[in-house]
Amino acid sequence: MTRKIAIVGAGQSGLQTGIGLLKAGYEVSILSNRTGEQIKAGKVMSSQCMFDMALQNERDLGINFWENDCPPVEGIGLRVPDPANAGSNLIEWAARLDKPAQSVDQRVKMPVWMDEFVRLGGDLQIRDVDIDVLEELAQAYDLVLVAAGKGDIVGLFERDSVRSTFDKPQRALALTYVHGMQPVEPFSRVAFNLIPGVGEYFCFPALTNSGPCEIMVFEGVPGGPMDCWQDVQTPQQHLARSLEIINTFAPAEAKRCQSVELTDDNGVLAGRFPPTVRKPVATLPSGRKIMGIADALVVNDPITGQGSNNASKCCRIYLDAIKARGDRPFDENWMQATFESYWAYANGVVDWTNSLLLPPPQHILELLGAAQQSASLAARIANGFNDPTGFMPWWKDPAACADVIKSHMA
Ligand SMILES: Cc1cc2nc3c(=O)[nH]c(=O)nc-3n(C[C@H](O)[C@H](O)[C@H](O)COP(=O)(O)OP(=O)(O)OC[C@H]3O[C@@H](n4cnc5c(N)ncnc54)[C@H](O)[C@@H]3O)c2cc1C
Repeated sequence: MTRKIAIVGAGQSGLQTGIGLLKAGYEVSILSNRTGEQIKAGKVMSSQCMFDMALQNERDLGINFWENDCPPVEGIGLRVPDPANAGSNLIEWAARLDKPAQSVDQRVKMPVWMDEFVRLGGDLQIRDVDIDVLEELAQAYDLVLVAAGKGDIVGLFERDSVRSTFDKPQRALALTYVHGMQPVEPFSRVAFNLIPGVGEYFCFPALTNSGPCEIMVFEGVPGGPMDCWQDVQTPQQHLARSLEIINTFAPAEAKRCQSVELTDDNGVLAGRFPPTVRKPVATLPSGRKIMGIADALVVNDPITGQGSNNASKCCRIYLDAIKARGDRPFDENWMQATFESYWAYANGVVDWTNSLLLPPPQHILELLGAAQQSASLAARIANGFNDPTGFMPWWKDPAACADVIKSHMA
């Protein structure tokens, strides 16, 4: 008999897993609290820059529909402006990625994936899922996956206080999608600006509803001068505030922004959330078990742009585990073990991301500074975004980090 799987949420993880399961012969229902039209016409949700390993999972499923239309992100650049000397930088380097990254606005991607899911025979239901619906699903399906991202319903999964480093938001976040930003030469990049004590500003090319654009991402240290969105009331005020921040704290980026305009009134976002790891299995009042996936269980601060990448990799691990399970039940032990296979990867990403939310220790300042002298070290750091587990354990160990620097400087 065909096994039946229900997925709550139609984002990166819900749709990638749902489509993968359909292609493997499962019967799949996805429940989404928004229609494709509502997602397309709604507010931006992410900056969703995805690197090659994560993109490959989409290619393998044949759902890389924007490969030719989405402008490539060809590299990573880092700049640390000198607070004592306006206009000059303490650190500045850039390196090419071995393979390009891409950011397709989730407002573009998810509606098309929803249509593809239905075209492949999937059952798409527009429903806001609560505990009663979860009970219905848990009774009728062999497995219920909650792929609801930061939706309230993920509160059913207990916070893992051992694996969660923070209990408060570490950055005030904002996104501004724009047309008209001057490209950076000679290759496009995620242009990171680390502003000590203030936060981070980075931007990169993407594809949105109205075509190619650039996404500006602001990560303000809470209570600092970049935590400044509370009084912003209109999209135009949001754009004006974005430009004020750049003029003040990242002046080297300002000349690229002289003719920018918003892609649309919904191309702005401001908010904050605590990076959190949750336990993978929740028990419903009936005693039935449900399982979380991707952001529902491991939600990272966007500072390292890893959430959608993690989601894609998590889907692949879950998909393989579901197929390997054959006809045996998806019981609690299987759920726990499947999540642990994902955590074996995600653990390193979380650790690396969390380390960047704290003031950088001396050895990391030395590492980032040395990359200015060594093109191979810069390339090593840039390409680490594709699989950040390669940064561990040396990223956090001053002696091991010094060895890495030395090997590149030689
Ligand atoms: C400001 C910002 C910038 C980011 N930048 C990047 C980046 O550059 N690179 C990167 O890799 N990641 C980035 N991320 C993270 C990335 O967007 C997420 O990690 C990714 O979208 C997670 O996918 P998901 O499927 O787990 O959840 P989501 O994409 O959040 O999808 C969850 C879906 O579930 C639906 N849902 C919620 N509750 C219910 C319910 N009760 N019933 C039915 N449906 C429900 C929601 O409507 C949504 O469609 C960023 C995030 C933010 C906030």
